[in-house]
Amino acid sequence: MKYIEEFQDPDLARRLLDDIHATVTRPWALMEVCGGQTHTIIRHGIDQLLPEQVELIHGPGCPVCVTPLEVIDKALEIASRPDVIFCSFGDMLRVPGTGRDLFQVRSEGGDVRVVYSPLDALRIAQENPARQVVFFGIGFETTAPPNAMTVHQAKKLGIPNFSLLVSHVRVPPAIEAIMQSPSCRVQGFLAAGHVCSVMGMSEYPELAARHRVPIVVTGFEPLDILEGVRRAVRQLERGEHTVDNAYARAVRPEGNPAALAMLEDVFEVTDRAWRGIGVIPDSGWRLSARYRDFDAEHRFSVTGINTREPAECRSGEVLQGLLKPHECEAFGTLCTPRSPLGATMVSSEGACAAYYLYRRLELGTVPAATTAATAAAAASATTAASATTPVSAPLEASPVV
Ligand code: SF4
Repeated sequence: MKYIEEFQDPDLARRLLDDIHATVTRPWALMEVCGGQTHTIIRHGIDQLLPEQVELIHGPGCPVCVTPLEVIDKALEIASRPDVIFCSFGDMLRVPGTGRDLFQVRSEGGDVRVVYSPLDALRIAQENPARQVVFFGIGFETTAPPNAMTVHQAKKLGIPNFSLLVSHVRVPPAIEAIMQSPSCRVQGFLAAGHVCSVMGMSEYPELAARHRVPIVVTGFEPLDILEGVRRAVRQLERGEHTVDNAYARAVRPEGNPAALAMLEDVFEVTDRAWRGIGVIPDSGWRLSARYRDFDAEHRFSVTGINTREPAECRSGEVLQGLLKPHECEAFGTLCTPRSPLGATMVSSEGACAAYYLYRRLELGTVPAATTAATAAAAASATTAASATTPVSAPLEASPVV
């Protein structure tokens, strides 16, 4: 398949790996920003093929995972109302709020519907003028433009019973927050190619220069990841820190002007809480004053939300790259895709789900470690340790593999 198989070519992968091995002379830690990239890395074992000096740290770029618990609880509250049809992409239905999820709301009689586009929700609103139709608008710069366009359409067509529960987030402020963290070990970034296909690359040079980190715009197939790593490592070995586009088949420096214009029209930048991380200044979008009537939070005035994260879940540390998923003591035992404690185990882009789907059989007997560094040290003695140190409960079979 064009653009898929040619970016999974084993011979080219070997050549890129040879080049990386020949280039690296000392340890480097790179963060892949996007959860889709994390899944490619874990699924294809790319991190295990790289030189041991190159560590890939998994970043916070899973939209489902970073949606704050408070917003999930607001969604549950709104979806429970008898006059509401609550529409969402399917991956949000199993994300645990405080004590329940949207599937549970549906089983209790709530009208919760899976849609494949926000425009489907708008059509449902047109067909049900006596009901309130709410679309759950979450995600990064990639999902924000279609959601903005839908609100724009709702206003233009005069559909008053449609609203958006919005929790959009932006990548550059998250990179800033990661670099400002005292525990940050990241020396270079693989930026998310799809985000840059919308936003362009203009937000990154200042970040790269100020923090002295290379930022390589990277795609999602195995060769894309290897090329991103190769370019980042080359810069680091040479002491450079520039923005480089390794995903030129999809990303233009100026981004997508139509999408940018829609974002500018409908949204305004705001501070946003990230699940497990906290509030990051200017890291989100909300509906601008002109579209406030279509804001579900404003329309339903949901108050009295008391959030409660499971004490065992360490997804905040996973999302900041401070902990590898299998280092969480609940991984694969208390927490599995069937009974997730945190969103990083639910989402198709979550790092915990990636480790569970593709690596749990290798990791199932690795003892819980406290830091990525200790895990790396443990990994070199993995096989020997694994034979003797069983976990406290058996791993549940995957629902997928
Ligand atoms: S394995 Fe489960 S409990 Fe642990 S950090 Fe991941 S989602 Fe949270």
